[in-house]
Amino acid sequence: MLLCSYCGEDLPSGTKSVQGEKTYHEECINLNIPRGQEALETFRNISTQSNVLCMAIHVNYIHGLAQENREQNKRKKEKRAIKTKELLKNATALRNSNSGHLLIHFVGREKEDTFTGAFDEFADDKLQTLIQDGSLFTDVYTKRFLSDYAIDLDKLQKKQHGVLEEISGKLEKKTKEHQSQQEQLAKLDLKANETLGGELFEEIRKILKQKIVETSKEIERLKNSKLREERKLSVCVDKDTLKDTHQYKDFLVLYVEGGVYLTTSDSKTKIALDERIIRPSDPTLITFLKNRTQFKSVHPSGHTLQDLTRLHESISVQFKGYFKGKETDEKIVRFMFDDHKLLEYVSAFTKNTDGGTYFLGIAEKDRSFNGRLYKSRFVEIQQVPINSQQTVEAKIKEGVSKGVLICDYDGHKIQNGLVDVFFIPRDSDMQSTAAKVPGDFVIEIHVQPVSGIVFYDTQGPLAYRVEGDTVTAYSVEEWFHAVIVNSVVR
Ligand SMILES: [Zn+2]
Repeated sequence: MLLCSYCGEDLPSGTKSVQGEKTYHEECINLNIPRGQEALETFRNISTQSNVLCMAIHVNYIHGLAQENREQNKRKKEKRAIKTKELLKNATALRNSNSGHLLIHFVGREKEDTFTGAFDEFADDKLQTLIQDGSLFTDVYTKRFLSDYAIDLDKLQKKQHGVLEEISGKLEKKTKEHQSQQEQLAKLDLKANETLGGELFEEIRKILKQKIVETSKEIERLKNSKLREERKLSVCVDKDTLKDTHQYKDFLVLYVEGGVYLTTSDSKTKIALDERIIRPSDPTLITFLKNRTQFKSVHPSGHTLQDLTRLHESISVQFKGYFKGKETDEKIVRFMFDDHKLLEYVSAFTKNTDGGTYFLGIAEKDRSFNGRLYKSRFVEIQQVPINSQQTVEAKIKEGVSKGVLICDYDGHKIQNGLVDVFFIPRDSDMQSTAAKVPGDFVIEIHVQPVSGIVFYDTQGPLAYRVEGDTVTAYSVEEWFHAVIVNSVVR
């Protein structure tokens, strides 16, 4: 079923789509998208931040449905995964562009609903992955409904009205003072004319005139500041804008603080730990690229069955079990790539001094020795039924070379064979005769170390920035430049 490009919810069955074009709900075209644009405009009016992005999420799959069947639950996960990507893309762009706001439209949210936990549960873990400079979550992200801005603006407006009232009061007082001073002067002038020896009043008149000048100046100053405050009030807490924000109870504003160094939303490369591979943190990645370790290539010869029984999983050895029975050679190869993440292991092993080895057809199982209580592990050799070693080897090599992007430390694309493939037969005396005949083997894929970085996606790493009102992806060259030249690791 197709998904709406705005809210991400299912489109009615039978909706036609044109390749490469976006499809929307009727309701999204007529109501939701225009409403989103209005909210965005309103927020831009009250925000002093230059970067403002927006996206929409339907409440159905953020909250989950009240009564959900298995199929709906599965679809919910798919829809959430798509929006997770969009959220991380936007948040990464803001982290890489000093800071900014992301306006999130909860399509279908009820006005009376005040619960925010569903979004927190959906977003917080993922947003946390973008903080790798040691900052606190609460220092990087602030969430607040757009309708709540009105409350703050209300307060601000009240405060500013108070300031304005105070100025007006002062102005009124000064104006009256000015008036009485002038009346006093007029009386003095009259008396001076009536009385001989007006010089007696001269000193008093001089003081009074001075006071009048000062009062006039003060009045002028107060008038100016009143004008300024009135202007501020009209720009910042414009009545209509205030009324506008009140109605946006279905818009969350996520503030995102800028990062210390380049934030990569998905590095598309892994590093090996004992028994597993993980995504390197941004500082680890930056350090790895800046260290420029030069690796020597190794010459693997393939293991024998006897070696295998003493081998265990480690930073450079990965076992994958095989429980599928008879399959075509193509399916067995696809199984390694699709189900057992071969390319991710390849990208991780290339960062080890001796590379690494990936086996298909070996499982590690728990056991205890001689009735002892503690548990340990032994390896179970399972073997994979292979029809043609040549086909399997060619498919593996093709899959690796077509699936990865290899760059040197400066970001220049390089070529490298990366893998050698070996087939370990059940009996050691089969080794010489087994080369071309069908049979059961353990597949061994040896990965060469690479002086550079291997991505398990031909597009390379995913990182974004804000340009104008849109989000732009870093090209591979730009990414390397940003990581190596612009990043300052604290
Ligand atoms: Zn929609």
